[in-house]
Amino acid sequence: MAPNGPVFSAMLEEFDGAARLLNLEPGIWKILTHPKRQIAVSCPVQMDNGEIEVFTGYRVQYSMSLGPAKGGIRYHPGVTLDEVTALAAWMTWKCAVAHIPFGGGKGGIICDPTRMSRREVEALTRRYVAEIIDAIGPEKDVPAPDVNTNEQIMAWVMDTYSMHVGHTSTAVVTGKPLELGGSLGRREATGRGVMIVARESAKHLGFDVQGATVAVQGFGNVGSVSAQLLAGIGARIIAVTDWKGGVYNAGGLDVAKLTDYVSLHKTAEGFPGGEPLTNEQLFALEVDILIPAALENQLTGENASAVRAKVVVEGANGPTTPDAHRRLHERGVLVIPDILANSSGVTASYFEWVQDRYGYFWTEQEVNDRLEAKMCEAFYAVLKTSLDYKTDMRMAAYVVAINRVATVTRMRGMYA
Ligand code: NAD
Repeated sequence: MAPNGPVFSAMLEEFDGAARLLNLEPGIWKILTHPKRQIAVSCPVQMDNGEIEVFTGYRVQYSMSLGPAKGGIRYHPGVTLDEVTALAAWMTWKCAVAHIPFGGGKGGIICDPTRMSRREVEALTRRYVAEIIDAIGPEKDVPAPDVNTNEQIMAWVMDTYSMHVGHTSTAVVTGKPLELGGSLGRREATGRGVMIVARESAKHLGFDVQGATVAVQGFGNVGSVSAQLLAGIGARIIAVTDWKGGVYNAGGLDVAKLTDYVSLHKTAEGFPGGEPLTNEQLFALEVDILIPAALENQLTGENASAVRAKVVVEGANGPTTPDAHRRLHERGVLVIPDILANSSGVTASYFEWVQDRYGYFWTEQEVNDRLEAKMCEAFYAVLKTSLDYKTDMRMAAYVVAINRVATVTRMRGMYA
């Protein structure tokens, strides 16, 4: 089972660079570049019109060396086994960088939930969970939301699993509603982590985050919370763009008013507290901190040379192409990679799993304090590695992650 699709190959390229730096021995190299388990299932669903459709679903458990596999489930027509496998590998490295006791997993179903009724989505979810039921569980593999899946779908995952095992098992999945064993602070966790690494990056580069200028692409969950929390510690959010347009104000945007405006109009375009701005203009602004928090492949070989920020904090997954990353690094821009910058989302999932397992729930302040400690630990481990190995933060994050997974793989040894 040697996956060789284009997305997995992109993952391997990053892996290989770090593995070479680590002088990883060939045997461990082979183990860490193969998924532990790939599951493909057919999920028959009776649609509202009475006809039966059969959907293909996947669950990949890339590594379980550090603990149960962990990773989201996405519902999308473009899901492929190649993509799910690569995403499961990236989750392995992200959990290892975050220093939480999880391996990496990912799931997906080839479907278009925007063209399905709520009942059809529920039936599909329950059938998918039933098909992979032996492979998941609090000690085995703990799914979470991803593209087009949400708290309600996680509640159905939890209920289906619980009905099969005969008791309520909240720790089988994270990203659940609060009433069903979800965690306080989870919704804001990814943006909070972005704020923390942006603040620590400023400290490292010797500029004050208070008064620092920030531009944010994407004003959804990650972008809006990052902007709110950075404004809360005195940074000046001068530009925001999204799918439709954007807004710029050199004196600083009123983030609370912008948040209200976006929840009403679904875009920052037309916000009266500033001038219009495009994505390309946002990337070229002279700011201290640039946060791409929208989609993948936004900073490219074409626009990266225009970036004048001191730090790029990758709130989104994969917003910087390898070509763009090379250009930014050459010009001395500090890039905080996604597997570090947005890892507090999965750290909050870990906290949810811990609370479910001991049946005692933390206050929001406790969640935030623990998140702060974990993110600082992760940031400084990667920074130290980048200085020790004289490499960029992305490569350093891979070195930290691969080293952790390789160490336990070596310690555990070969079974039979
Ligand atoms: P979201 O759907 O809440 O927000 C996405 C934002 O991007 C919206 O403001 C949207 O308008 C904007 N956008 C969409 N297309 C755009 C375009 N072409 N140009 C500019 N802006 C565009 O999503 P989110 O949860 O905030 O996630 C954003 C990114 O962060 C994704 O890459 C996601 O995988 C990653 N991420 C999210 C979490 C999390 O906890 N939500 C955790 C880790 C990583």
